[in-house]
Amino acid sequence: MANIERKAIPIMDGLWQMEADDNPHLMGSRCRACGEMFFPRKTLNFCMHCHKESLEEILFSGKGRVLMLTKVERQPAGGFYKGEVPYTYGIVQLDEGINIFSQLVDDSTLSADERVEMVVVKLYEEDEHDVMTFKFKADSTLREGVRDDGE
Ligand SMILES: [Zn+2]
Repeated sequence: MANIERKAIPIMDGLWQMEADDNPHLMGSRCRACGEMFFPRKTLNFCMHCHKESLEEILFSGKGRVLMLTKVERQPAGGFYKGEVPYTYGIVQLDEGINIFSQLVDDSTLSADERVEMVVVKLYEEDEHDVMTFKFKADSTLREGVRDDGE
């Protein structure tokens, strides 16, 4: 057996990229005509909202708010999911205004309406690879500070 260095690879290309600020950013599409945003980004230049060919690629800030979350106790059907169970899953409203489905870092204190930030973490190992995915976790910059409960 050769001594192979483990390599981190994304679960899918084109979901996020690292930026100059050293933070990962989700990659999306925005329609220049109607403003609609999409995640994951569209590979075809076609807006499903207004039917114009005016999409541009954008990077999301990676910050948002949990709208709802749930614990998934069993392996989803279909065999596509190779990570650990149980895991936390939910809907995150990105600061840009779009709602996306995402896994959340397991954290029993995380609650709906809390501010979250995107992280890239290992989902599972495959051969010599660490397969990475994005998740959201409680915004560490806010946890120790004042919470805005928005009431
Ligand atoms: Zn549009």
